[in-house]
Formats: sequence, C-alpha cells, structure tokens
Amino acid sequence: MALDTLSPSDPLCVGIIGGGQLGKMIAHEAKRMSLKVVILDPTKDCPASSFADDQIVADFKDENAIRKLSSMSDIVTYEIELANSAALKELESQKYPIFPLPHVLKIVQNKYRQKLFLRENGIPVPEFALVTSESQLEGLCEEYGYPAMLKACEDSYDGRGNFIIASKDDISRSLQYFAGKECMLEKFVAFSKEISIMVARNIQGQIESFPVAENIHRNSILDTTIVPARISSSVQGQAKRIATKTASAFGSPGIFGVEMFVTRDNKVMVNEIAPRPHNSGHYANEACSISQFEQHLRAVMGLPLVKPELLSPAVMVNILGPDGIDGPYNIQGVSKICAVPGVKLYIYGKKISKYRRKLGHITATASSLGKAIERAKAAREMIKVDRAIGGR
Ligand code: ATP
Ligand code: MG
Repeated sequence: MALDTLSPSDPLCVGIIGGGQLGKMIAHEAKRMSLKVVILDPTKDCPASSFADDQIVADFKDENAIRKLSSMSDIVTYEIELANSAALKELESQKYPIFPLPHVLKIVQNKYRQKLFLRENGIPVPEFALVTSESQLEGLCEEYGYPAMLKACEDSYDGRGNFIIASKDDISRSLQYFAGKECMLEKFVAFSKEISIMVARNIQGQIESFPVAENIHRNSILDTTIVPARISSSVQGQAKRIATKTASAFGSPGIFGVEMFVTRDNKVMVNEIAPRPHNSGHYANEACSISQFEQHLRAVMGLPLVKPELLSPAVMVNILGPDGIDGPYNIQGVSKICAVPGVKLYIYGKKISKYRRKLGHITATASSLGKAIERAKAAREMIKVDRAIGGR
C-alpha cells in the first residue's frame, strides 16, 4: 500500500493491540492527521483510551477480539509483544495489513528463538543455549563461568524473567524460580554501557535509524536515557550497522528498538529487540526532527521515512510507582517542574500505581548534555508520587 490520499470524511483507521503509554503516543500521533484509532486492551480506562475512537475491551491474545479489531481497521499494529502471533498470522494470510509482520512477533516473543534468529543473521549476541535439565545447566554454567544469566524464554519484561546465577549453589533455586518454564542461559556480559537504537523500515524497504541512546537501568528497569550516547565513533558505527542489519533481517515494516551492550573492549552485541516503539526512544519527541511514533506510523502506512536528526542533547528519566502504593495516586511537584526550562512532563494516565510501574517520564533538553543531565535530575527530584486519599 502506497498512501497518497487521506479522506478526513472517511478516515483511515489504525488498530492498535495494547493501550498502554506506547499505544497512547501512537494514537496521539495518528490523531494529528485525524486518522481513526481503535485499540484492543483489557483495561477500559487504559492510557490510550483517551485518544481512541473505540476500544475493544478484551485480552491481547483473544482471537475473536483481534479479528474484530482487524475488521474495524485498515492497518493493525501492536505496542506489546503479548499479542497473539498465531491469530495475527492467520489474518495476514487473509491479506489484512498487520505490521510489524506476525513472523517478527513470533521470533521476538521467545528469547531463545530471537537469539537464534539474530545469530543466524550474523548479528553479534552473547553466547547462549537452551536449558534442558539441571545437570545440563550446571555444565553450561561451568562453560560460561559465573555469574551467568538465566532467562525465561517467554512473557518476561522489566527484568522479571531474569535470574543471575552467581555460583553453583544458585542453580536449583534458579530453576525453581522459573517453575518449569522454558529457560535459556546466557553468558553474563560485563558491559561498559547499555545502548539502544530505534530503527524503522517502511513498506517500500527504506530503513532509517535514530541516534544512539545510552541507557541506565536500575533494578533491571530503564531509569535514564542519555542522548547522544557517550561512546566512541567506532562504537556508534557498529551500533548503527547492527540496527540496520537487524531491520533488514526482519524484512518487515515497523519500528524496532534494538537494545545492545557495549563490552569493555568496545564490541557491540545485541541484548534484545522490541518490535515496537520503545521507552528508550521517548527522548526523540523533543530532541529529534521526528518522533519514533510518527516514524512508526509512516513505516506501517507506506509513507516515506525521514532521517531522524538530533536537534539537541536530551535526557529522559522514568517516573516509576514507588513501593507501598497499590492504588490511586497523585503526582506532586508539577508546577515546580514546569518552571524548569527545557523540561517536558509526561503522565501516562494509568489509574492505579503499582511498585515499579511506569507512570510517566520527564525529558530534559538543553544546549549541552551536561545541562540536560542536570535539568533531568533536578526535575525528577521535584516529582513525588504519593497515595491519593479521598481524591485530590
Ligand atoms: P526489558 O523489558 O527492560 O527490556 P527484559 O525483562 O526483556 O527487560 P532483558 O532486556 O533481557 O530483560 O534484561 C534486562 C536487563 O538485564 C538488561 O537491560 C541488562 O541490564 C541485564 N542483562 C540482560 N542480559 C544480560 C547479560 N547476558 N549479561 C549482563 N546483563 C544482562
Ligand atoms: Mg530488555
């Protein structure tokens, strides 16, 4: 589909599986061109619902709901890996445009399958192997050395599916932790930095990547993204080549978040790929000539991509649910934050806070990276999430 005409009197409809903050920001971008948006999400007042014309309230894997979404939409995309790849594949065979293509979703949904795919396509990854028994795991740990990283192959996010095996004594506990789920072992990478690139490929095969972002995780959750990443030009070159190679290996329209490690000897390897907009790409809303959400929509609608240019240094920090609040919450300090120049506050609109849940983010831009870091840090200290007792 090459798109040249939009009809505001009968707008094109984008169906999005998942109505979280990523779905919300895709929908927001779609609304700029007055496209119609339908979302599929089990939570009625999920973040994207405020920008959606319609919502199908159902589980992400519900085949009937996915079918209904396709019948209501001209294009279906997704913001989460939990979507039902088999159901999407069936719809693809009936010529429904679903992007990224369902085969990509199937590959990334399983970390072992994903790593095999990357390795087979010549993309550097840490050493890894499927775990088949406790004694085989023991042998693998001996081979890779301690610590080693045990990962559940499916349904893990924010580090919840990872277990660091520090010594032989941890082996049986690590397997118990995953209670019979399929697992893989990965060599522990003593990285000097984590970086990521958003890379998009459109229907015509054009590929464009965003600047390299440097990511700092805290307790396995993304805490801070710094752009430009503080890396050498050789590392930057490797990262860009890897991102482009990954996008062409997938051979699918869409945007991809390529998470990578930089080793102490300056080699770049892929940790994992997200077939969707990514938390580490939020900075582009303020700092680039195009946002990841617009680039994604262009990619899946068959529109030309533009080469994202970094307009200013930027630092993004996440606002996470604190410990001890499991319910309605307030975000305090808004007027103080708004007084800091170059700072943008995003509040996703989740009705309930949970420990470590992503509730919003702050992006600070400035004329220098040092200043952007300072601004983001200062802004985050001004924010306080607390329990809402009896409303505001
Ligand atoms: P997310 O949802 O944040 O992407 P995830 O649950 O999919 O996380 P991973 O991305 O595999 O999990 O890992 C989370 C973090 O754990 C990584 O960002 C990195 O800090 C660390 N990590 C993962 N694999 C390794 C490894 N092989 N060696 C060292 N650290 C690792
Ligand atoms: Mg990850």
